[in-house]
Amino acid sequence: MAALSDNRGMRGRYRARQVINYVNLSTPLGLLIAVAGRARVRRGEHGLLYAHGYRIPFPVAGAFTVGNVVLTAHEEGYLTGALLRHESRHATQYAFCVGLPMLILYVLAVAVSFVLCGHYASWNVFERLADLDEGGYPRHPARWRRRTLE
Ligand SMILES: [Zn+2]
Repeated sequence: MAALSDNRGMRGRYRARQVINYVNLSTPLGLLIAVAGRARVRRGEHGLLYAHGYRIPFPVAGAFTVGNVVLTAHEEGYLTGALLRHESRHATQYAFCVGLPMLILYVLAVAVSFVLCGHYASWNVFERLADLDEGGYPRHPARWRRRTLE
């Protein structure tokens, strides 16, 4: 019974995220990017949309998420398991960032991570919250840690 109501709670949250990311325009932007990249869009799990076969070589990533749209250059079957959980957390981050401001905040987080450790993801707050390991990212130590370790 608990599991059943938990399930219902999750479905409600996914549904809310889906609606919020449409209204805040991040999902429509994701769909535009998918069309520009000539990707094939289909419904996925948890209210997400999967865009396979994305053809623009930027950003350099196995997959990336804009609103509820998860985009990848790879073919059907790539968006599963840990990677999908990771990208799904990014979709939730868009909802919490009121949509498009997330893109600016994400670029700032990339800059901060780069300054701290020389890698764009290791100290990027969005990637850390989305789980570095599940996103396939390394855990570079921050520069000051490296100095004390030497
Ligand atoms: Zn990520």
